[in-house]
Amino acid sequence: HLSVRLTNVASLVPINARVADIGSDHAYLPAALVLDGKIKYAVAGEVVRGPYENAVREIHAHHLEDNIIPRLADGLAAITAGDKIDTITIAGMGGSLIVSILENGKDKLKGVKRLILQPNVGESQLRQWLMDNRYQIMTEKIVEEDGHIYEIIVAEPSVVPFRYSQYELDFGPFLLENKGPVFTQKWNEYICREEKVINQMKQAQKIPVKKIAQLRKHLEVVKEAIA
Ligand code: SAM
Repeated sequence: HLSVRLTNVASLVPINARVADIGSDHAYLPAALVLDGKIKYAVAGEVVRGPYENAVREIHAHHLEDNIIPRLADGLAAITAGDKIDTITIAGMGGSLIVSILENGKDKLKGVKRLILQPNVGESQLRQWLMDNRYQIMTEKIVEEDGHIYEIIVAEPSVVPFRYSQYELDFGPFLLENKGPVFTQKWNEYICREEKVINQMKQAQKIPVKKIAQLRKHLEVVKEAIA
């Protein structure tokens, strides 16, 4: 009974991966992966006691104590060398929080072959961090569920530094290659919201005309992207 969002995250986890799910809350994602027979070992990291206890309960309910280890820890501090984690999933939080978790846990990223990240907002900032830290984006997904649109970014360490343009950082290099209906919907909604904001600003006359022109210009770029 995994959500559409987490089902899509799960689909990107390699078979037999050793997974650290950071900010796991109920540990639904690692539990589903183990119950499906896709993986045998996962760490469910949580920094808040309530969600940590949710994870513990879920693990016990399915008798997954040998397969999923819950840890009360901040970010990647949940990972120990003995776990031999090769895949990290971080889902359901803002891009800037995901960036800070990765940035503060850099020493734990050695040996990790794949990051599967599902930011709720701030995707551009997250892609920027990946680029700055020599990650290559392997694939991306965009999914809609209950009126919300979610992006999923898969990244792997690369030997050669990868360069993405600001355009690719904003929209996603793989999402741009296959502009599906959800992508178009996401950016159409963005355009509607921004146009309202710009009109309000204009009426309030609190924002310089130059700034409004700038915002409008950016909207033209977005319109171009979904054209
Ligand atoms: N990953 C699940 C999902 O996608 O459905 C749960 C998402 S929930 C909205 C975000 C969780 O991240 C919360 O339970 C919160 O306690 C946890 N979290 C926030 N910052 C964290 C950190 N620095 N380290 C570990 N967990 C964190």
